[in-house]
Amino acid sequence: MSGRSSLRLCTAAALCAATLIGAPAGAASATPLPGGPSIGDSYYPGDGNTGYDATHYDIRLTYQPGTDHLDGSTTVLLTPTQDLSRFNLDFALTVHSVLVDNVPARFTEGDGELVITPAAPLAQGRPATVVVRYDGVPSEVTVGGEQAWKRTADGALAVDEPHIARWWFPSDDHPLDKASYDVSVAVPDGTQVISNGVLTGTTSRLGWTRWNWRSSRPQASYLAFLAIGHFDVRRATGLAGQPLVTAYGTGLGDSADAARASVERTPEALEFLSGLFGPYPFEAQGGVVASEGLGFALENQTRPVYSPKFFARGANTYVVVHENAHQWFGDAVSVAHWRDIWLNEGFATFAEWLWSEHEHEGTAQQLFDHTYAQHPAEDPFWQVLPGARAGEAVRRRRLRPGRDDPAGAAQRHRRRRDVPPAARVGGRAPVRQRHDRGFHRPGGPRLW
Ligand SMILES: [Zn+2]
Repeated sequence: MSGRSSLRLCTAAALCAATLIGAPAGAASATPLPGGPSIGDSYYPGDGNTGYDATHYDIRLTYQPGTDHLDGSTTVLLTPTQDLSRFNLDFALTVHSVLVDNVPARFTEGDGELVITPAAPLAQGRPATVVVRYDGVPSEVTVGGEQAWKRTADGALAVDEPHIARWWFPSDDHPLDKASYDVSVAVPDGTQVISNGVLTGTTSRLGWTRWNWRSSRPQASYLAFLAIGHFDVRRATGLAGQPLVTAYGTGLGDSADAARASVERTPEALEFLSGLFGPYPFEAQGGVVASEGLGFALENQTRPVYSPKFFARGANTYVVVHENAHQWFGDAVSVAHWRDIWLNEGFATFAEWLWSEHEHEGTAQQLFDHTYAQHPAEDPFWQVLPGARAGEAVRRRRLRPGRDDPAGAAQRHRRRRDVPPAARVGGRAPVRQRHDRGFHRPGGPRLW
C-alpha cells in the first residue's frame, strides 16, 4: 500500500512539469512519476516504498551451507498505485539483472534500496511482473550497520524483526504492504529448509533437495522466514484438520525433550486462543526450535521460531502461547507504524496471563501485581515498554464477553484510536531490543 502524502506531493510536481512543457493541465495526472523510497514509518524511514502494492513474492533460491552463498531470483507481482516511471524495492544482496514485464530494466543499488527504472512506465492499476536475479553471502552484508542474517554451523536462520527480508529477497519491506508467498530453496541432500505455510513438496536431483513452501494468506515481509540446517521435521494434523509442521534442530541436546513437550502442544494453545480471540486466521500451524543462532522467539506467520534457551529449564508452554497469540495480534492484525509495536506485545503478554489462569498458576491480576512489585520506579524496566507493561495496558481494558472483542480492539487501535499516550514507546531501539526487555529475553522477568 502506498503513502498518500507522497502521492499528493507527486501530483503537485506533475502539474509543474506539465506546465513547463506546455501540456494541457488535464493531462498532468497521466505523467508517470517515480515512486518514493519510504512508506513513511517514523522509526524506520528507509522501510517500504510508495507507488505500488506488492501482491505476491515467488522466491526461488539455491543455498550452500558450507559457504553461506545464496543465489537465485525473486519474482514480484505488483500493481502500481500511480503511473510509475521508477520504483524501489528494499534489498541488500548483489543484483545481476532485473526484468519488468519481460523487458530488461535499468537498476541501481545502495543503502538497502534497489532502484528500478523500467524501459517503459508502468500504468496505474495494471499488474506488473518484476524478476530480480541476484546472489550474495548474506552474513557478510550490513545495512545501516545492521546485520540480521544468522549463519549457523549447518545452515542459517532468516528470522528477525523488523528487518530480515532484505538479506534474502527484494520486497516492499513494511507490514503495510502484505502479500502471499511461494518460497522454494534448494540445499544439499540431507539438509532441511523450513519456511511459512504449507509444504507443497520436495524434489531431489543431482545431490540437491528443493523444499517448496506456500503461504497463501497476506503476510508481512518480516514474518517470512527460513530455517536451514539439520532438523527433525514432523508433519501431522492440527486444529481443524490444518497441516501442522514442527521442526527441532538435531543439536538441541538436553533441551530437545522439553522443546518437544512444549511446541507439540501448539494445537492445544491455538484452541485455547481461538476461544478468546476467534477463529485461527491462517492455513497452517507449527513451530521451529533452532539448535543455535537465536536469543529470542519470533511469531513468524503460521510457524513461530524459538531459541532453545526457552526450554533450558524444562517445558515452557507460555512462550508457545505468547508467539501463537501474535498470530492474531501482530500477524493477522499488524502495526501500521512500528511505534505501535507495544500493542502486539500487550496482547501476547496478556494471553500468557490468561493461559496462567487456565493452568491455575495465578490470575492476570496476581501476575501484574507481582511484576509491578519487582520493579521500583527508577528501574530501567520502565524506560521502554516491555510486554508486561503493555499486557497491563490491555488488562485494564479487559474485554467483556459480548461487548468487546480483542480483534475489534486491535482494529480500532490500528485506526489510531485507543492509544494511551503514556504507553507509547519513547526510544527508537530496534524492535527486537525492546522485545528482549520483556518476555522474549531468556532469563528475563519470569512470572511462573
Ligand atoms: Zn512478543
